[in-house]
Amino acid sequence: MSTGRLCDKSMENKIALLFNVNVEQIFCFSKGRVAFYALLKAMGIGPGDEVLMSGYTCVMVPSAPMFLGATCRYLDIEPHTYNLNPRLLDSHYSNKTKALIIQHTYGIAQDMAPILQWAKEKNIPIIEDCCHVFGSTYKNQLCGTFGVGAFFSGQWNKPFSTGLGGILLVNEASLLPKVQAIYESAVLPTLVEELRLKIQILSYKGLVNPKTVGAVMMAYRILSRLGIAAGSSSNEEFSGAMPKGYLKRMASVQKQEGERTLVSISALLAHRKQLGEYYAEKLPKIGFMSHMPMSESENIILRYPVRVANKEAIVSKALRNGVEIGSWFEIPLHPKGIDMACFGYQPGMCPESEKACCEVINLPTHQKISLKEADRILAFLQKYGKAVSPGTSIGSVPEES
Ligand SMILES: *Cc1c(COP(=O)(O)O)cnc(C)c1O
Repeated sequence: MSTGRLCDKSMENKIALLFNVNVEQIFCFSKGRVAFYALLKAMGIGPGDEVLMSGYTCVMVPSAPMFLGATCRYLDIEPHTYNLNPRLLDSHYSNKTKALIIQHTYGIAQDMAPILQWAKEKNIPIIEDCCHVFGSTYKNQLCGTFGVGAFFSGQWNKPFSTGLGGILLVNEASLLPKVQAIYESAVLPTLVEELRLKIQILSYKGLVNPKTVGAVMMAYRILSRLGIAAGSSSNEEFSGAMPKGYLKRMASVQKQEGERTLVSISALLAHRKQLGEYYAEKLPKIGFMSHMPMSESENIILRYPVRVANKEAIVSKALRNGVEIGSWFEIPLHPKGIDMACFGYQPGMCPESEKACCEVINLPTHQKISLKEADRILAFLQKYGKAVSPGTSIGSVPEES
C-alpha cells in the first residue's frame, strides 16, 4: 500500500494494451460515475445542456450530468436487447442536446449502426457506459471504442473488480488535455480510505461465494448507509446532491487489485462467454426465453437476463436459499427506494423499461459460478420461476424498425 505507487501507471498500461490505445488515454478514478463526470466536465457540459440516456440504468449515471447542472432525458429500451431504442432519438433530441450515452446493458452490445449514423448527422458526441461490458464487440469492434470516450466500473459485481473504482478511456484526442487537468485536480484517497478499501477487498474475497453473496451484499449496504464501510453510494447521492470529495482518483490498493485481476482477464472473459452461451442454450429447454443477440455482435454477458412473472418472489426465495440471482434493474433508475423525480424521471416515461424492471432477473457468469453451479441456478429457476406467458414477452419477436 505504498503511496509511491500512486504515480505508477502499470494498471493504465494493461488497460491501454487491451484496447490498443496509448496509456495517456486511460484515467483511473474512484468510481465509474466519477470517470463519467470527469469526461462530461472536460466536454464542457453544464447548465442548460441536455444529455440523452437509457431509462433503464443505475441512478448514479444521471447523477453525474446533474452534478454539472445538465438535464437528463430518458429513452426507453428495446425489450429484447435491454439497450436504448434508436427510433426514439429524434423525439428526444433538441438543440440543447450535448451528448448521447450508450449503455451496453448486461454486456449485450448496443446495435451501433443506427446510433453512429444519427450521432454523425446531428453532430452529437457519444459516450459509452461500459459498466456492464468488457470484451463484447459490435462488428468486430470493441465496446468502448465507438464514442469520444467510455467509462468502466470496478465495483464488485462488474466485469472485473478493483474493489470499487472507475476507469475512463478517452478516444477523442482533443479532450485529453482537459481530462488530464481534471484528473490532476481530483483529490487523492487518504491513507485511511486506502486502508478501509484494502480491508474490504480482503473481506470480500474471504466471505463472498455464490451462496453468501446476497447476504453479504445486504450487510455491506447496511454498513455503508451507516457510514461504516466505504459504500458504493452515499445517501446524499441517492437524493441528487453531489457528495464532498466526489471527484477522486483511484487508490493504489484498487489499482493493485485491478492489475491482479487483469493478469487473468482472458480466462475470466472466456468463462463469462461460456456461461452466457450455456444459459442461452439451456433456458429454452426449461421453458424460459433466452435473449436475442444481434448477429453483428459478440457478447460477453455480465449477467444473463431472464423474464419471469414472479420476480419479487423468486429473488427473495433465491436469497433465502443461497442461490445467486440478481435483480438489476428494479426501477428505471436503480435501486429501489430512490426518488426518481429528483432525477427528472416521471412514471410512464419508459414503459418497456418499467415492464422489464418488473420481469427481469439475471443470472451470474463470474468465475465462482461453475457449470455445476449454473445447473443448480437453472434447476432453481425451473422449480420456482414462472415464465412470462407467450405474447406478453417480447423476447421472441423483435419489433421491426
Ligand atoms: C454500476 C454501474 C454504474 C456506476 O458504476 P460505479 O463504479 O458504481 O460508479 C454506471 N452504469 C451502470 C450501467 C452500472 O451498472
